[in-house]
Amino acid sequence: MLENKAKPSFALPELPYDENALEPVISARTLSLHHGEHHAGYVTKLNQLAEGSIYAGRPLDEVVRRSAVDPAAKTVFNNAAQAWNHDFYWRSMRPRGDGMPGGALRDAIGRDFGGLSEFRTAFTKTAAGKFGSGWAWLVAGKGGALKIAATDDADTPITAGETPLLTIDVWEHAYYLDYQNRRIDYIAAWLENLINWEFAEVNFNAV
Ligand code: FE
Repeated sequence: MLENKAKPSFALPELPYDENALEPVISARTLSLHHGEHHAGYVTKLNQLAEGSIYAGRPLDEVVRRSAVDPAAKTVFNNAAQAWNHDFYWRSMRPRGDGMPGGALRDAIGRDFGGLSEFRTAFTKTAAGKFGSGWAWLVAGKGGALKIAATDDADTPITAGETPLLTIDVWEHAYYLDYQNRRIDYIAAWLENLINWEFAEVNFNAV
C-alpha cells in the first residue's frame, strides 16, 4: 500500500515579526504559546478533520465560509475560523504601532465614529464587554461604512459578507499570562502600542 505523502492542506503561517517583538505589551512567552500551541493546534486539527473531505486542499477562507453553513461541519468551522482569525490577528499588530490611521480610512473613522478618540472608546467598550471568549473587530460593510463588532468563540465577520480591517483576540489565552484578568489593560496597551493601521488601510482600500 502506498503511503500518503501528500502535504497537509493547511499550514501554520509564520508570525510577521519575532516572538519578542511585541514586548512589553505582549510577552514572547505569550506569543510563543499563542502561535506555537493554540494557533498551531487549530491548524493541526483542521488538517485531521479535512483529510479526505470536500474541504481538503481548498483555500482557508473558502473553508470558513462553506463550513459555516454546514451544520455537520461545526468542528471544521471552529478550527478553520480560528486558524483564519489568528492569522488576521497577527497582522493586525506590529511592533511600535503608531496609533494613527491615514488617508481615506482616517476620513471614514471621522465620518462613522466622530474621530479616532471616539473610535478607541467604542472599540474598547466592545472588546472589554465581550462576555467569554471571542474577538472584537473593526469591519467595513458593503459600501465601506465602518462599524465595531464582537464575535463569539471562533465566529468571524467574513461569513457575514463584511470586510474585517483589524481584530483583537480577547480569548483569555491572548493576555492571561501578561495581564491575568485585566483584559482592559491589555486592550488599552494594544490600542496604544500595537495596532497596525497600515494593515487596516490596505484592507479598507480593497473594499
Ligand atoms: Fe487566540
